[in-house]
Amino acid sequence: VVDRGSGAYVWDVEGTPYLDYVQSYGASILGHANPKVVEAICAASEMGTTFGAPTPGEIELAEEIVNRVEGLEMVRFVSSGTEAVMSAIRLARGATGRRKIVIFSGGYHGHSDAVLASGGSGVATLGVPSTAGVLESAVEGTLVVPYNSAPLIDKDVACVIVEPVAANMGLVAPQPNWLQDLRRSCDSVGAFLIFDEVITGFRLGYGGASGYYGVIPDIWCFGKVIGGGLPLAAFGARRELMEYLAPKGPIYQAGTLSGNPLAVAAGKAVLSQLNPDSYEQLEETTIELSKGLNQVIGQRGIAVRVPRAGTLLGIFFSEVDVLDFTGAKKAADTGRYRQFFHAMLKDRIALAPGAYEIMFPSLAHTKADITRTIEAADSAAASMAMHSVGSA
Ligand code: PLP
Repeated sequence: VVDRGSGAYVWDVEGTPYLDYVQSYGASILGHANPKVVEAICAASEMGTTFGAPTPGEIELAEEIVNRVEGLEMVRFVSSGTEAVMSAIRLARGATGRRKIVIFSGGYHGHSDAVLASGGSGVATLGVPSTAGVLESAVEGTLVVPYNSAPLIDKDVACVIVEPVAANMGLVAPQPNWLQDLRRSCDSVGAFLIFDEVITGFRLGYGGASGYYGVIPDIWCFGKVIGGGLPLAAFGARRELMEYLAPKGPIYQAGTLSGNPLAVAAGKAVLSQLNPDSYEQLEETTIELSKGLNQVIGQRGIAVRVPRAGTLLGIFFSEVDVLDFTGAKKAADTGRYRQFFHAMLKDRIALAPGAYEIMFPSLAHTKADITRTIEAADSAAASMAMHSVGSA
């Protein structure tokens, strides 16, 4: 149970500090309790916390986002990544008049019903509910396809939704030209391409993943970084498409706390501190970490892959590179991640407990923090090498 956080660290309720690589699963890119963010939230709270009308801050943050992302003309704020994706799908279905959506297995797009589908063993299978409580009818229009494979799509498909870098099955980068191919497949049948940039947005680079890979989707979803640790997310597109939304258009979408003044103040304070140099710094940190982890764990005779895409990195206990969810699952099933997680935690380094999560170094992580992490990983790997899997 976390009591407080500052920069790269969190303290539990017993006062023990941990070097934190969870960082609210990517929401904190500057580290915890960044002074300018704290100041902005405090100042905003004195002005009233919610009105049911737009505020200048909301418009300024929208402009800031749109200015950074090529092709994006309008955004609408919501309060979570889940809502952003849910609204983006409704927009795609409403604007095309089509029913089917395509997702990739191992991707995560929040917890709205339509995206909680798992595929079968075939190449492109109609979804089945992946959790209790989701009706079959809610996912019968959801096609589930392996990541990094080319989906065969037809004119019933409203949209293809993809994490441009998959970051919820460990880290799986798109194969060269795969995103470009998806763009072409969507265009060939008039389906919309949705980039779920809830993790990659303003973390992978100044212009998010679409800027990084030079592929422009029809609809973007953002979350995490843009809310500076408060509940804020957004979806957006070119103007003509966004105008399908009510009140101008026929597609309903709303939210009492959407564009909340505290959240937009936090988001603005974060983006104002992120410039192209920030991403260079974060990438350097990530490179050092991925190289170091690969080396020290590998040297202990443990099969490991530490994939990196720009500023993002993950860790797979695998003998081969992981390209999709089948590979990610094989790596998770070794049980090695669990051992690694516990060994690191003993050394006061907090990783996400789940094998499918990635690591989130922040701009507050120093070179000394990275060195310490690599040393701890070396000891963790040494003890793992002595214990067979399952005995930990
Ligand atoms: N999309 C992606 C890619 C995510 O990683 C997440 C959350 O981790 C979501 C959507 C859902 O966001 P939220 O948890 O804010 O609803």
